[in-house]
Amino acid sequence: MNAFAERMKFPGHGLVVRAKEKWSAGDAMRKGIVDRDALQSIAERLIANRGSCWVETDMRAMMNPTRMKAIGETAVRFAAELGETCPVCGACWFRIIGTRSGLPCALCGWPTESIRSMERGCWNCSHVQYAPRPDGKQAEDPQHCGYCNP
Ligand SMILES: [Zn+2]
Ligand SMILES: [Zn+2]
Repeated sequence: MNAFAERMKFPGHGLVVRAKEKWSAGDAMRKGIVDRDALQSIAERLIANRGSCWVETDMRAMMNPTRMKAIGETAVRFAAELGETCPVCGACWFRIIGTRSGLPCALCGWPTESIRSMERGCWNCSHVQYAPRPDGKQAEDPQHCGYCNP
């Protein structure tokens, strides 16, 4: 499942989105995508119509430093999201659908209002799984604790 993400080689390149890894005649394909909204709408359409999507770097953008600079950080982040695959069925875009609060206080362990974990869900098989915070933070500063610092 990591091969998908590895192929994207972030950050810095334009992105190509299409329905399958192997392009076949008649398939829609978009190249040089540099912003998140475009990427998301294309990916959503492909998933709705074809049940799959594939994202990879745009070789033309790699050859062109100006184009590379134009690629927004949010697009790169969203593409990384698309690259998350469902551990059950392998579909791409195992996306964040919610968060769970309750990050424990570093001093007393009281669950704070801060985000404890991310909830990911699969659009294909409805599998849901909790994932750690992207920043790896496992405890909250006592100043945000309702028990230590009410
Ligand atoms: Zn799935
Ligand atoms: Zn505390």
